[in-house]
Amino acid sequence: MSTPESGPGPVSTPTGTLGTDQRLSLTPVQSGPPAFDAHRPPSAELVADCVHCGFCLPTCPTYALWGEEMDSPRGRIYLMNEGLQGEPMTPSMVQHFDACLGCMACVTACPSGVQYDRLIEATRAQVERRHERPRREKALRAAIFAVFPYPKRLRALRGPLRLHQKTGLSRLLRRTGVLDRLSPTLASMEALAPPLENREPVPERTPAQGTKRGTVGMLLGCVQREFFPGVNAATARVLAAEGFEVLAPASQGCCGALSVHNGREDEAQRFARALIDTFERAGVDSIVVNAAGCGSSMKEYADLLSDDPAYAERARRFAGRVRDISEILVQAGPVATRHPLPMAIAYHDACHLAHAQGIRAQPRELLRGIPGLELREIPEAEICCGSAGIYNVLHPAPARELGDRKAANVLSTEAPLLVTANPGCLMQVASSLERSGRRIALAHIVEVLDASIRGGDPASLGVPPSETRS
Ligand code: SF4
Ligand code: SF4
Repeated sequence: MSTPESGPGPVSTPTGTLGTDQRLSLTPVQSGPPAFDAHRPPSAELVADCVHCGFCLPTCPTYALWGEEMDSPRGRIYLMNEGLQGEPMTPSMVQHFDACLGCMACVTACPSGVQYDRLIEATRAQVERRHERPRREKALRAAIFAVFPYPKRLRALRGPLRLHQKTGLSRLLRRTGVLDRLSPTLASMEALAPPLENREPVPERTPAQGTKRGTVGMLLGCVQREFFPGVNAATARVLAAEGFEVLAPASQGCCGALSVHNGREDEAQRFARALIDTFERAGVDSIVVNAAGCGSSMKEYADLLSDDPAYAERARRFAGRVRDISEILVQAGPVATRHPLPMAIAYHDACHLAHAQGIRAQPRELLRGIPGLELREIPEAEICCGSAGIYNVLHPAPARELGDRKAANVLSTEAPLLVTANPGCLMQVASSLERSGRRIALAHIVEVLDASIRGGDPASLGVPPSETRS
């Protein structure tokens, strides 16, 4: 992997050189209809905020992989400006936008406060509406979006998947690499599927223990609900132990995160409206989320539904009540007793928690509150693991490279347990660790808290006694 020189300085582009003190200004060089139409194009004002300093480059995973200017945040903003200047949407332009993981590490790194998150979201919606993708790619995207945002359809996959894992076919395919040769996309999906746990449905109402401190709604999620039911069960238990009544309406659907991150604006809006209806009916103080990607999208509902007179104000109110699980627990302060977990853990910042929601301190504070637990930081923490929603399915090769890089960094901590706050990261890092031939336990942060509150048994998190301290 190349790690190119990057940082402040002029930048070469296909049509000239940009100095650090220049605003982007280009002459159209190709013919065709302009890349963007008038419906929510990327904002020219936000594009103009970029002063081309290059401070974002070292944290951008695609720039780290390929060292290509047009695969950096600065380069992509340059392409957006080309589109705004009337350039057509070329396949090469789309390729650079598609290659972005949407990890938002550039938003954290940018000293000028460039809102790349809003820019790429608007750009993606334009790409989805105006660009004709090759037939195979269209079919793959259609198949993903016909299944992933629908918990009932994901549930229907559990039986065949369990059989596939139980019969040893999964191990055989991974060992021989035959699926990899036939279809890297299928191989990537197969490798990402986690070992299926037993279903552990969360009741529609879980009463608070002790003095009640509030009533919260709980997002069950799609992948979280069907593939990581233990995380949801742990979330409800921890919230109840901390004095919250938990309402988890069974009728709730997808939050629309995958759709919005992939430019499917109408679909995302439909999901958002339905979720707002569901939690308004439930009458809750806050809506708690344990999946970083979902939480960051739900906090942006005000923007997503700003043009809808019936929902704009409701979306704003809803977004203001969304809390990540670690956010609400730190805000409320602990009341349940923490029992010791005498072991080391490595904490991985999920991009949509750290970069998109700015939540870094709260998970660490919660983990440091557990007696005996030693928190180890992972080198290159700001670089994405390559999961990024469905990126690892659509772009298996770079995702795998980033996953292997993350796994090596995780292993360098020598902690027996990796903790994070997003199902996608858990699947991605688990699959890279398996490829490396080394095994460590993986858990969601709320499972670690649950284990501590319930009595402190490291074995319940998959950590063997040889890895714990006396
Ligand atoms: S969102 Fe991530 S991948 Fe995309 S430009 Fe920013 S840092 Fe690079
Ligand atoms: S996005 Fe921010 S950090 Fe990156 S080049 Fe532009 S101004 Fe600099």
